[in-house]
Amino acid sequence: MSDYKDIIRKPETLNWFKAALGMKITRDCLLDIVKVVIKECYDNIRIEIEKQRDGVLRSIVCNTCSTANVLHCNPENKCCNHGKCVFHKTDKTKKCPYNLCHKICEQIVKQHRFCNHNRLESCKGPTWINTDATLWCYDPWQIAKCYLSKDGYTDKNSAEETDFAGIINVIINCEYFQKYFKDDLTPFN
Ligand SMILES: [Zn+2]
Ligand SMILES: [Zn+2]
Repeated sequence: MSDYKDIIRKPETLNWFKAALGMKITRDCLLDIVKVVIKECYDNIRIEIEKQRDGVLRSIVCNTCSTANVLHCNPENKCCNHGKCVFHKTDKTKKCPYNLCHKICEQIVKQHRFCNHNRLESCKGPTWINTDATLWCYDPWQIAKCYLSKDGYTDKNSAEETDFAGIINVIINCEYFQKYFKDDLTPFN
């Protein structure tokens, strides 16, 4: 037991502890900001959609389209597989009854920093496997989840459950956050 006490007293252990604590404090501060900005990002998406030629009013919401309903069957989206697609086995691709969800999907792609904006249809950026499209109009964090990395976040459904790396990923991958930074965040990936 005394061995452990020695380890804890060592300056390098204390430094690790301080670093971990610093990361926790930073994450907690960023959390509040990210929650506000991702809601703003959703509002902005809705403004963009409303402005389109066949625009949809911001007051209209949809909770019927699943992520599989919204996505076209394409293994590049990292949800589908080659051959018989399990992802689209029960839920097929279909048009949103409000002409809305596929437009939100398009906007999520557009906001992704690492998408080729000239070839949006083949963008591999957003992690669709993480998100639940039925909640896009109700819970902006489901939009944030499209900008997280693929692993480890499927069952984390709020900002509070998301770790430091996840919060940073949302800030870097979702270009909407760029306007809050003087530096270009592109090289930080
Ligand atoms: Zn599929
Ligand atoms: Zn829909």
